[in-house]
Amino acid sequence: MKEILLVKLGEIVLKGLNRKAFEDTLLKNIRRRLSQIGKFTVRISQSTITVTPFTDDEDMDEAEECISKIFGIASYSRACVAEKDIEDIKQKAAEYLKDVFDEISSFKVEAKRSDKKFPYQSPEICREVGGWLSEQFPEVTVDVHYPDVVVTVEIRDYAAYIRAGAKKGAGGIPVGTGGKACVLISGGIDSPVASYMMAKRGLELTAVHFASPPYTSERAEEKVVELLRRVAKYSGRIKMITVPFTKLQEAIRDHCREEYFTIIMRRYMMQIAEQLARQNDCQALITGESLGQVASQTLSAMVCTDSACHMPVFRPLIGMDKEEIVEISRKIDTFDISIQPYEDCCTVFTPKHPRTRPVPDDVIAQQNKIDDTQLVQEAINNVKITII
Ligand code: ATP
Ligand code: MG
Repeated sequence: MKEILLVKLGEIVLKGLNRKAFEDTLLKNIRRRLSQIGKFTVRISQSTITVTPFTDDEDMDEAEECISKIFGIASYSRACVAEKDIEDIKQKAAEYLKDVFDEISSFKVEAKRSDKKFPYQSPEICREVGGWLSEQFPEVTVDVHYPDVVVTVEIRDYAAYIRAGAKKGAGGIPVGTGGKACVLISGGIDSPVASYMMAKRGLELTAVHFASPPYTSERAEEKVVELLRRVAKYSGRIKMITVPFTKLQEAIRDHCREEYFTIIMRRYMMQIAEQLARQNDCQALITGESLGQVASQTLSAMVCTDSACHMPVFRPLIGMDKEEIVEISRKIDTFDISIQPYEDCCTVFTPKHPRTRPVPDDVIAQQNKIDDTQLVQEAINNVKITII
């Protein structure tokens, strides 16, 4: 029996005149992601996308898994294809839903008739198909209020589709419709979650990672690559830019007061990330900061870091507790990697008593002790690019 995926659009349907552009981007994203799995035809009509496998050999489980992570999708389900003929619909429904009906005790049928030429109206389709299924599965009863399963029959342009229930999609809006932003990614729990959250709002991601070998290891960098791979299941392609940060960190250590090490390091991160962002057509920075989480994430500290750059800085986790962040990181499957114990450049030369209320003028005075123009330029000139 021929099976497809039926995909329903999310917030896009609210987009009015821009809707076509949103739909086109979503289709492009779906096609690109599915092309890594096999051959599928992806079509849209009346806010519903059909994903049809080219041959019986395509892996529908993998396709479903892939669809479940694409932003802009409200819900999705597997469905079987029938001819637009009530007898074929009944036969296919009984056959296709057999396994489901063996497990449940009640159901109801809903019908969507977008092809108005179909000779049966929706209530008649429900009655016909519901009656037939009751006959075929006498132990399963109709319950229109609290059914175990809602069977939906959709009569569309090319065929009729039968499905049992639907799963919640990834939500959000399609990646690429919101422009591009540059996420500062560490190996921790927070920044992969922040990346996911902003991709969910339609941003295409470029990622900047600061590495300080030999204080940070090759393995620490590989960990970040693996984290981005997981994020990319949602965000699609990510360009990762690794910045050699050792010399700047050593300069901070050699010239600045210890209590300011972290805050000055973070200012350089913002400054360099901003330049790389501009080079890559990104209009904002993203970080995984959460207010008050550590000394460098107090309000005063963020005032100091923000003043080092001139782009909007998105901090989607700003009002979240660690536990809430962890919950998302488990959901997107980054948690297990994030907790692997590899050092980050943030943990190199950490002050014993960082300033929690740094004053920008003091910080800048300390930072000015470093002759940094060449060091910053050198870091930017020697970045390494990895496409995820
Ligand atoms: P995370 O779990 O994301 O590492 P954290 O709680 O460890 O966050 P910090 O280490 O203070 O917090 O970092 C705050 C933010 O700074 C991170 O969320 C990330 O956006 C950025 N950041 C930290 N280290 C790096 C790095 N090595 N390269 C790029 N960005 C970084
Ligand atoms: Mg960190």
